[in-house]
Order: sequence, then C-alpha cells, then structure tokens
Amino acid sequence: MSFERPMHLDFPLAAEKDEIRLLKLRPGTWDEPLQCQFWIVEISQKPDYVALSYVWGDATHSYCIQVDGRPLGVTENLYSALQRLRAHAHDREIVLWIDAICIYQGSISERNRQVAMMGRIYAHCREVWIWLGQMSSPEASDLRWSTNASESDRICYKFHGDESDYDEKWSEYQSAFPATERAGNNPSIAGEPTREVSSSEIVFHCAWILRLLAAGKHLNEIRPFSGGDTAVSEYLGRVLRSMEDLVNNEWFSRLWVVQEAVLAPSARVFFDFVSFPLRVIEDAKTLHAHTRARCCVPLGTQQLYFSEAIKNITGGFAEISQMQNESPTPNSSRTLFQL
Ligand SMILES: [Zn+2]
Repeated sequence: MSFERPMHLDFPLAAEKDEIRLLKLRPGTWDEPLQCQFWIVEISQKPDYVALSYVWGDATHSYCIQVDGRPLGVTENLYSALQRLRAHAHDREIVLWIDAICIYQGSISERNRQVAMMGRIYAHCREVWIWLGQMSSPEASDLRWSTNASESDRICYKFHGDESDYDEKWSEYQSAFPATERAGNNPSIAGEPTREVSSSEIVFHCAWILRLLAAGKHLNEIRPFSGGDTAVSEYLGRVLRSMEDLVNNEWFSRLWVVQEAVLAPSARVFFDFVSFPLRVIEDAKTLHAHTRARCCVPLGTQQLYFSEAIKNITGGFAEISQMQNESPTPNSSRTLFQL
C-alpha cells in the first residue's frame, strides 16, 4: 500500500486559492466499513462542514477507512471518532474537515499552506466537534444494557441543552433509581440505583449529572447526592472514575486543539456515546457557586473528590469561553497554529 500513489495527489489543492479538502462520510450501520469521499472547496465560497478537534493518540495507523474506494490508514482514536459520528448522524451524510486526513501529510509545502489556513478553517466551519474519545474502561462501550431504545439511540445520546433533553433518555436515567417521586423534571429523588448499573450506563449518568448541574440544580437534588448519605458508595466511586476519565483527557492538555474550539462559531463535545453543546459543560460550573454559597456542599470524601473532578472539567472548558470572550480573530490566532 505504501508504494501506491497517495490518493491525495488525485485531489490536488491549488496553491493560489484558499482550497481545502473536505471528507464526506456516508451513512452506514455500526459495523460497516467507513466509506468517504474527498470534496475540494474554497473556504471563501462558504462550504458547509464540521471541523473535528481531537488528539491523534497512538500514531500507528492500524485502522482503515475507504476514501473514494481506496484504503486510507488512520489511528484508532480517529477511527472510533468517525464510527461514533456516523452513528450520531443516523442516515445523514456528514461533511468533515479533519487535519490528518484532509491535509496530505506527505507534502511539506501543502502542509505549511494548510496549517497557515487552519485559523480560517476552524472559524468558517458550521461547528467544531470535540472528540474526547472512548471511556477507558473496557466495558464502557458495551451498549447492550439498553433494551428499550432503537439501535441508533443505544449508540448515541444527544443532549441539546434545553427542555427537550427531558425525553426518553431522562426516563431511562430515572429508571435506575427508586420509583418514588419520579415526576416531571424534578430530579429530587433520594438514593442509589436500585439495579445493576453497567459501565456504559455510568458514562450516561455522568452526562446527566453535568446536564443537571448546568440546569442550576443543587447537588442535593442530583443523584447520587440527594440521599444525604455521605458514606462511601460503590456507585459514586464508579461515577467518579468516569469523571476522572474526562478530566484527565489528553485533549485538555493540548493548546493546539483547545485553540480550535475557541475559533469555531459553536462547539459540541462528544465523549463515548454521549454528546453535548459545549455550553452545557461550561454551565455545569454553577457547582462553584454552590460551593461558595454552601447551600448543598457534600461532606463525604468521595463527594469532595467528585466536586473537584467537576471543577476540573468545567475549568478546562471555562478557559475556552474566556478565550472566546477575548474575541480572537482568525489572523491573530494563526501564530498559535504555527507554534
Ligand atoms: Zn446548592
């Protein structure tokens, strides 16, 4: 494969124009090969695309996608991102800009030109999708726990950050807990889950905790804190470990990728099979206000660790909104991309 003519050369970018390659990802079921096509556009013509922000991870190109019928090696992290994004899109085609694929890495001159355009590429996309990766626990992607959702819903839970989030996925979350007081949007139900909670379900519960914090709920209105019991809980420990997966994500430690989110008009965060508008995670920092007001600060050791984890997650994203508020322009950011 390495002796073949690189497919990028069949889709050349004109050096004198602001051309980029976009990747059209075709719909498909979970196990089907990832089928894509290149599409060359000029940024000035305002093409509609989503830019992906992620870390390359292990540089071994041990996974394969199809681009215009030919195999292209990608890293495991990128492969899992594409597989998950395709599932999120259901039966729609998605148009992506992804640095590792859309830039021909074998050409230094093309790379230099494209890297110089990256500020504009992110500023002109419809949205940036931040891929934080799969949860690290081996069972985290075991999607079999959900029996009452369609196949696509089992693979993806999309949060919108508004009232429409309180739909079947809210019922599904609530179904893990005691049935009393289970009414409307009121999450003030005491206690621990009443049934076995799988690893992937824990990820989903983390998502709901962030979502409820973003909605301004007090910690004592959110399970598993609402029981008022500060004893060490196995369930809370598992929630905490998943939160730590998020906090310790390599994405946050890379100025390069964080910068991409700052430039984009809007951003959505994907972790494992859950996605959020970036604003929801930013809004979850209301936890700080509760800590200051001491209205609902939990006292148990695990709860305190949990508060720290949430602070670190929201703190990472708060830096992004702060940078956004400082109104960077694509030009001023260019130097950052050239570091
Ligand atoms: Zn409070």
